[in-house]
Amino acid sequence: MSNLIVQKFGGSSVANLERVHNVAKIVTSEPSVRRILVLSAMSGVTDLLIKASTEAAIGGNYIATFRAVVAKYESLVEGLHQDREHARAALILLSNELKKILEAVAALRFCETRTRDLILSFGERMMCTLMPFFLRELGSTSVYADARQLIVTDNRFGNARVLFDTTGEKLTAWWALQQNVFPVVTGYIAATDDGISTTLDRGGSDYTATIIGGALNADRVEIWTDVDGAMSADPRVVPEARVIATLSFAEAAEMAYFGAKVLHPLTLLPVAQKHVPVVIKNTFRPEVPGTMITDAKKENGGTVKSVATRSGLALLNVEGAALRGQIGAAGRLFTALARADVNVVMISQASSEESICFIVSREQRETARQAVEQEFVHQIESKILSVTLDPEELCIIAAVGDGMIGQPGVSGRLFQALGNAHVNVRAIAQGSSERNISAVIREADRENAVRAVHKEFIQ
Ligand code: ADP
Ligand code: ASP
Ligand code: MG
Repeated sequence: MSNLIVQKFGGSSVANLERVHNVAKIVTSEPSVRRILVLSAMSGVTDLLIKASTEAAIGGNYIATFRAVVAKYESLVEGLHQDREHARAALILLSNELKKILEAVAALRFCETRTRDLILSFGERMMCTLMPFFLRELGSTSVYADARQLIVTDNRFGNARVLFDTTGEKLTAWWALQQNVFPVVTGYIAATDDGISTTLDRGGSDYTATIIGGALNADRVEIWTDVDGAMSADPRVVPEARVIATLSFAEAAEMAYFGAKVLHPLTLLPVAQKHVPVVIKNTFRPEVPGTMITDAKKENGGTVKSVATRSGLALLNVEGAALRGQIGAAGRLFTALARADVNVVMISQASSEESICFIVSREQRETARQAVEQEFVHQIESKILSVTLDPEELCIIAAVGDGMIGQPGVSGRLFQALGNAHVNVRAIAQGSSERNISAVIREADRENAVRAVHKEFIQ
């Protein structure tokens, strides 16, 4: 036991002054526990910063958007009782720096992803600069901690990958020096080995919390958000969705990967092997137990625990005699995709071995197509292979639950439910783990499909 809890609060939990006071109260309630706080930018700020960077890059008026960001944080400064001028000065320093960068983008009429990551870093940096002032008002010795000095990534700006070994070393060395202080760490942002700012994809603060919790072997990581826990479906789509009391790491990882927005897709990766439990809690109803994610596997009863969807996808179908019985054809296909840095979300192969289809994000669909066409150029010319890109906007619907393992008939019920709801299934995949069945469907059918599957298994 490390006697450490990592607590992450999302953008909606710090959306205004009242909520920031509420968070300060929650995290100072038991002073004997050692904690690290991870915060997101105030709700809406990351979107505003993206808007400002685009406006600056196209030569538009970014000043109003920039001011809207600063005004949000100024409203927090106004609510401080002590040390307000000091906090204001810190905010002015950051906003001046942000303004200079936006001016540079406007002058260049260009904002590459690297510059945008630097611009986005200000949302979390402003939030975490101000929070320690609120915590000190409640008697805590709180300090700002910049994750760019703690989490090291590669240089895939906008969606950087964590270099876990160096990150672990940095975090351990840093934590050893944090005696009797309560650090507030910027979520979502990190840096390359040579200190260039990066971000961990949208919603990345959850991931920041588990990266820290995993590296420091925390007792637990708490993800505080605006719902009562992980739910059986997106509550915005299915009002009848229920809170799930317990999930295994594997179940939660599948839910996150397949789009349950409450967790960033990679959240469970740094903690599952270290057995560090994750608890999802509601900032607005702290008395509710929330969802506990642990090693625990078998649950009583139930099959499908949750239905999740992942949007923004495209399907590529590779088909033809060139694939039949050709050992290594699939290997060549996926190596070509990996070389082009295409992330394959899902694969499905017909048992005839004559076709393989795979799902990629819509942004990567052309890159993926070109990579495959280049790899199999001769087979395509000889007309023994064709590559087609489905023009429709697609999504994946995934039914997740350890209780599905070894249960006959689950996929039958799933596809029956989709059929009854007139949802056409383009491709299916079931991992050999059997805890997830996924179907590729049209984006336009998404909500209808989720409701139908939720009704079949959960309601
Ligand atoms: P935060 O700002 O705290 O990170 P997010 O907006 O990223 O919060 O995630 C919480 C939201 O995720 C909820 O308000 C809910 O609408 C949505 N959501 C989607 N799927 C689920 C699910 N299966 N369980 C819980 N919440 C979900
Ligand atoms: N502020 C970032 C975002 O809006 C990270 C996060 O909220 O977790 O994506
Ligand atoms: Mg989030």
